[in-house]
Amino acid sequence: MPLKVLTLGSGVCANNCLPGKRRFPPGFLINYNNQLLLLDVSEGVRFRLEDAGYDYGRLTKIAVTHVHPDHADLSPFLQAKLCRTLWGEPVEGMEHLDVYMPEISIKGFEDAWNWRHPEAGGRLNHMPEKFKFDIHPMRGEWEEEIFPGLKLKAFGVYHGFGQHPALGFRVEAEGKSIVYTGDTGMVESLFKNVEPADLLIADCGVRIGQEYTGGYGHMGPSQCGMLAYRSKVKELWLTHYVGYDAPAAMEAEARKSGFTGTLKVATDGLTWNV
Ligand SMILES: [Zn+2]
Ligand SMILES: [Zn+2]
Repeated sequence: MPLKVLTLGSGVCANNCLPGKRRFPPGFLINYNNQLLLLDVSEGVRFRLEDAGYDYGRLTKIAVTHVHPDHADLSPFLQAKLCRTLWGEPVEGMEHLDVYMPEISIKGFEDAWNWRHPEAGGRLNHMPEKFKFDIHPMRGEWEEEIFPGLKLKAFGVYHGFGQHPALGFRVEAEGKSIVYTGDTGMVESLFKNVEPADLLIADCGVRIGQEYTGGYGHMGPSQCGMLAYRSKVKELWLTHYVGYDAPAAMEAEARKSGFTGTLKVATDGLTWNV
């Protein structure tokens, strides 16, 4: 059965920092036999899903690595799903959404949702007969078969000076594995959870020559390359970069690790298939 990954956002939290092709904030769609899982729900991602030929109303599973605004603009997506059921033609899956996120971040989201809907009197699901969402708490070592034949795993990573609860995800289906680091600096949990991955989608938010240990919590090209090399990854995507370094320079830097697999500096629309 087909397993596909589609890049909906290879960019960062700000646009127009540099001239060049527009890249949106993070979002990766996993399509396993027409069962859809979205990794990170960035600003306006439903429009990009539509542009790629997917109806966001059919999307029933979203997993959020962490709740920085460029990864977790969840409220507008929920609102759109809800209002589709009021105004739109029925489509399969439109009445429900499962959201997976770090356990410790759930209360804050619920407060934000209630802030937007004081008329609901504190009820998260305002119209459960029309639309219902469930939030599933994740923490490191969490795993679940969320679709028949597709397993989602979560592991803790390092981000926001170690103060921000953040996860990486590993998706397994058809004997293949896809790892999305989310936002993270170099941390031991990556090595444990990446190996062996068929596809590694790695946060490359730091410029060449500015890689650090600890610090805020992003990786640079040399670190992504080292992770891919040591973890025997088949294909590496560098993502979540501002764009100051030329793609060829980013690749060359990542290759210094000895990594010889397929390497792509991700742009929006990039796909992977088996
Ligand atoms: Zn972040
Ligand atoms: Zn980010």
